[in-house]
Amino acid sequence: AESRVPGPNGYKCLDRPGDAGRVAKVLANDLERALATNTQLFLEYQPQVDSKNIRVVGVEALLRWRHPVYGMIPPCITVALAEDTATIGRLGLFVLSEACAQRQAWLGWVPEGLVMSVNVSPPQLRDPEFARRVLAVLATHDLPTELLELEITETSILSPGSGEMERLRLLRSKGVRVAIDDFGMGHTSLRYLQEFPVDTVKIDRSLTVSGPDGVSGHIVHSIVDLAGRLNIATVVEGVETLEQLERFGALGCTLFQGYLFSRPLSGEECLSFIRRQQKPRK
Ligand code: C2E
Ligand code: MG
Ligand code: MG
Ligand code: MG
Repeated sequence: AESRVPGPNGYKCLDRPGDAGRVAKVLANDLERALATNTQLFLEYQPQVDSKNIRVVGVEALLRWRHPVYGMIPPCITVALAEDTATIGRLGLFVLSEACAQRQAWLGWVPEGLVMSVNVSPPQLRDPEFARRVLAVLATHDLPTELLELEITETSILSPGSGEMERLRLLRSKGVRVAIDDFGMGHTSLRYLQEFPVDTVKIDRSLTVSGPDGVSGHIVHSIVDLAGRLNIATVVEGVETLEQLERFGALGCTLFQGYLFSRPLSGEECLSFIRRQQKPRK
């Protein structure tokens, strides 16, 4: 309906605000159809690599929408659209279900503990039924809870005792892992890590790409240092060059996700990639 079309500021990833309204009107109905027909939406998987022994320790599921007319729609647009048209619940469940099905299909083919990471948007987490839904999807696909990680952004900032926080605590008590995505960009203080029920922090790409000006180095060092003390894993996102890899390696980082290792891949390609890394090296 017209009234549910998002406003011009709803798409942070669009440069020209004027584009947003037009894009949204056309796409809102199409997303409904895509969800219903189940042919245009699919996932790609980007490996997370342990640089110490070059093993894939996890993959991040990333949403793709191949629109029949407009081609590939960036996930930030799809997700913003879904949030604004109240389809995010169904879209989120689609992603979760696809990712769990894929991880289940890989059982026995990939390292036992390899984790499937799924992005969760703030409104999904606000759903009081969220924890139950996640556990139901895991049960449907007969997937051990320990193999799923939920990526929460800093912007779904959770106050202690909030419903969101309690749902994450419940999920974690069942074995589901929790990551903070894009960490280091927002308004979150490091102290937050201490209170937040979290297994992993993913260091935002903007900290990865910024040059060796010292400042981002200090920030990253503080994050890695504190995370280490709290027994929280650190993944560096968006690593594209050996120079970046070395710089972060020197800061004590060992887990990386970025084009240097691999772009997001189809399920099949990703399985091959994982198995190539598994082969004993000569
Ligand atoms: P994100 O969760 O931080 O995911 C990482 C993004 O960085 C992905 O973009 C990935 O393709 C990209 N990336 C990875 N390595 C590199 C690199 O070395 N260089 C550069 N330039 N980029 C790299 P993508 O797939 O376009 O997704 C963008 C964002 O859309 C995601 O950021 C996430 O916030 C959101 N998103 C994607 N899929 C989903 C989903 O299923 N649900 C929700 N709620 N959000 C999603
Ligand atoms: Mg993510
Ligand atoms: Mg991220
Ligand atoms: Mg990001």
